[in-house]
Amino acid sequence: FNVPTPLNEPVKGYAPDSPERLELVKMLKELKRQERDIPMHIGGQEVRTGRRLPLHPPHDHQHVLAHFHEGDAGHVTQAIDAALAARPAWAALPWEHRAAIFLKAADLLAGPYRARLNAATMLGQSKNAFQAEIDAACELIDFFRFNVAFMQELYGQQPISSPGIWNRLEHRPLEGFVFALTPFNFTSIAGNLPTSAALMGNVVVWKPAYPQIYSAQVLMELFKEAGLPDGVINLIYVDGPVAGDVIFKHRDFAGIHFTGSTKVFQTIWQEIGQNISRYKSYPRIVGETGGKDFILAHPSAHAKAVATAITRGAFEYQGQKCSAASRVYLPSNLADEILGYVKEDLATVKMGDVEDFGNFVNAVITEVSFDKLARYIDGAHADPDAEVVAGGTYDKTKGYFVAPTVIVARDPKYVTMCDELFGPVVTVHVYDAEQFEATLDLVDGTSPYALTGAVFAQDRYAIDLASQRLVNAAGNFYINDKPTGAVVGQQPFGGARASGTNDKAGSILNLLRWVSPRAIKETF
Ligand code: GLU
Repeated sequence: FNVPTPLNEPVKGYAPDSPERLELVKMLKELKRQERDIPMHIGGQEVRTGRRLPLHPPHDHQHVLAHFHEGDAGHVTQAIDAALAARPAWAALPWEHRAAIFLKAADLLAGPYRARLNAATMLGQSKNAFQAEIDAACELIDFFRFNVAFMQELYGQQPISSPGIWNRLEHRPLEGFVFALTPFNFTSIAGNLPTSAALMGNVVVWKPAYPQIYSAQVLMELFKEAGLPDGVINLIYVDGPVAGDVIFKHRDFAGIHFTGSTKVFQTIWQEIGQNISRYKSYPRIVGETGGKDFILAHPSAHAKAVATAITRGAFEYQGQKCSAASRVYLPSNLADEILGYVKEDLATVKMGDVEDFGNFVNAVITEVSFDKLARYIDGAHADPDAEVVAGGTYDKTKGYFVAPTVIVARDPKYVTMCDELFGPVVTVHVYDAEQFEATLDLVDGTSPYALTGAVFAQDRYAIDLASQRLVNAAGNFYINDKPTGAVVGQQPFGGARASGTNDKAGSILNLLRWVSPRAIKETF
């Protein structure tokens, strides 16, 4: 039998007075009225530890949205035990039942859960309605539906046989449990990392980044309502090193599905290496990490298109996407025109609360992030080699607000051209329009990362040259488009070099990491 052919979930527009806008506004009010008490979920039980920590909206840090119960090393062990106890039944369940659970989750999210998960993402992660819609609703619905189709495709990949011999591949779940460590910036990634492994028959211990706990709670309710059995995904809130210390020493640790910083991923990899002789199998290590993503314009580029890509690619969701444009190379013949358009765009952009749908920019996620961005902006103000041509202000009185900032740097290796800032700050270097080829080497050699990148040109030879010379500079390479906003099923997402293991999220390649195939030969 065939699973439904997936189609990308249509993005709702949230126009004033549209039914989806009215429902979302109602939901935002409802969530803000009730201060929630958020338990961990272990083996289907709600676990309250009494160690309650507050969650605040980043754009209004005096408001308390909820308290969550933080756990300790003992809870990590409990979560692993619950996962392993659930494993035999889950791994033995015919795949169509696993598929049905996640197809139902997609339908629930497309319908009754949409407003709640979007609203939770808006309040907890300071994401505006449009950015929440493409993330928490559409992308996650797509992950569920496309992964089911990819699973069927993977299971269908079978070896050849001949009369008298039947060869088969059995795609077994990994022997043990998978650890999902998820980021704050995409609710869809937080939803996808535990569920893509679970879909393939694995059991999971899931630890979200703390600012995402508010929407993680809604996801857990969604999985339960979709029929996910107890213990298949266990949600814990435990300090990272405390959790890691238990998980990476466990004999049944079978793999990690990670999105987060390069530094944390490297530490984890080292820890796994140090414990390698303890494990039953070599663990799968799948990670998407940092980026220092580029936009490169050729002298033949359309100036307006480049400007729009900068405004959207660098500043949507406050630049807190691994894919966000953060270093830009403009040719001397077009730089003034492009920067002029960007400044015009930014002059119309509003910043503030997520509840005002007119705000394009909201708050950055934490005070730590705010302070780091403020330091870099101060540095640029003080440096004669850098010019802040837009933004350059910040204010944390009510929320962690950093104005969309454009720095023009004379030195192509200026600190903000190199460091990953993860915020609404983009740095531009203007190159001599005669030096496009040399600039390609600069783009390739400036950063250890290789996640996304965009090249703008009308000249076909230039596109080809850039495509060849930057072959390893980005796992997602865009021609005449912004480097953000990969769509499941259309642009499988992931990078190499310091940006990750490039096991493309939202593709059959990713699912392959969560199975251990057994080749069977039967002779008649
Ligand atoms: N997939 C997202 C995009 O294409 C970025 C994911 C991330 O930030 O990790 O914009």
